[in-house]
Amino acid sequence: MDSLKNSDPQVYKAIINEIKREKSTINLIASENFAPLPVLQAQGSVMTNKYAEGYPALRWYDGCEYVDVVEQLAIDRAKKLFRAEHVNVQPHSGTQANMAVYFSMLKPGDKVLAMDLACGGHLSHGHRHNFSGKYFKVISYGVSKRDEKIDYNEVEDLAKRHKPKMILVGASAYPRIIDFIKFRKIADKVGAFVLADIAHIAGLVAVGLHPSPIPYAEFVTATTHKTLRGPRSGMVMCRKKFAQAIDSEVFPGIQGGPLMHIIAAKAVALKTALRPQFKTYQKQVVANAKKLASSLSARGYRIVSGGTDNHMLLVDLRSKKITGKDAAFALHNANIVVNKNLIPFDPLSPMLTSGLRLGTPSVTSRGMRENEMAQIACLIDGVISAAKNEKVIKMTAQEVVRLTNKFPVYKELKL
Ligand SMILES: *Cc1c(COP(=O)(O)O)cnc(C)c1O
Repeated sequence: MDSLKNSDPQVYKAIINEIKREKSTINLIASENFAPLPVLQAQGSVMTNKYAEGYPALRWYDGCEYVDVVEQLAIDRAKKLFRAEHVNVQPHSGTQANMAVYFSMLKPGDKVLAMDLACGGHLSHGHRHNFSGKYFKVISYGVSKRDEKIDYNEVEDLAKRHKPKMILVGASAYPRIIDFIKFRKIADKVGAFVLADIAHIAGLVAVGLHPSPIPYAEFVTATTHKTLRGPRSGMVMCRKKFAQAIDSEVFPGIQGGPLMHIIAAKAVALKTALRPQFKTYQKQVVANAKKLASSLSARGYRIVSGGTDNHMLLVDLRSKKITGKDAAFALHNANIVVNKNLIPFDPLSPMLTSGLRLGTPSVTSRGMRENEMAQIACLIDGVISAAKNEKVIKMTAQEVVRLTNKFPVYKELKL
């Protein structure tokens, strides 16, 4: 990065500081991961220079012969990995992927049934300040008070009552297996489309550790930077008969030129995801989440829904008399990065929250296993139990640096 260092020392310094931050903190943000070096290299390549409006072999401008290669590779690999009939790899993000489905299948004012944000849904599923909530009439389902799992009876009742045109399934903060077959059956009873948003669990779905929605949903959207370990981006998968509608909605409907350097990086990540080692990695992600959950539970923390089936868990902090906001702040000062999160039926506001969401994709990417999860649970408990004790926080921060030094993020870069 010498040329960057010379031409823009301020940006260079911020990047170096970010490298140091990532290296020396324990990252438990469930939606984040470390993209492998080959992904970063493709992402930092000259493919950013090319305008490629259109699709492989059907471009607006000339000179697309090499960007066509990477986009076709990304498409073919995604189809193989997810057994999808059609894939569009151009959405810039998960939100754009969802937008492409909404705008191609619905008219403004149409009804959508989606998961409540307070129970784990995503902004792009109907938040009032998001396009989804502004243009469409969103009805939401939640989880049951009894077991904090999706209440399929409630979903069916709401579907029958409101007759939505589309039912959305998928979440940002739901630690349990989702039964896509049940959603298909409910949708069929009311003649609705199913959009399965697997942004968080795409990596688990890819290797069969979470059931795939592909056979049961007309549309499946994903991000590529969460469990899938690729560049920050999105994609849409759909049945062949919707291919044309989705492709023309992504471009020219909602986007202009695709980010070809990011698509190249998606191709690289998808190749990695097809390797047997990727399944080993995802298994460890889930094993680590289970171990983190059981270790915290053993220390008196209530885990929402009683545990986890995937890469994340929600911790109810009420028994510890601390808000999510204060816990996350103290943990951050101790070099442990998490996010505050609403728990189902949270009595506190989204600014405060009664919970934390913890995820294991990043720590697993750097090689941590069950032993480290038990150690991290102990560190988290120490900080939360003494959130105002600066000495404890400082000592924990030092311990985190010692631990993270043993698990470099980018071995190739000695980082
Ligand atoms: C992360 C996420 C998205 C999209 O996120 P972007 O930040 O737009 O890439 C969409 N849906 C769900 C369920 C998510 O968790």
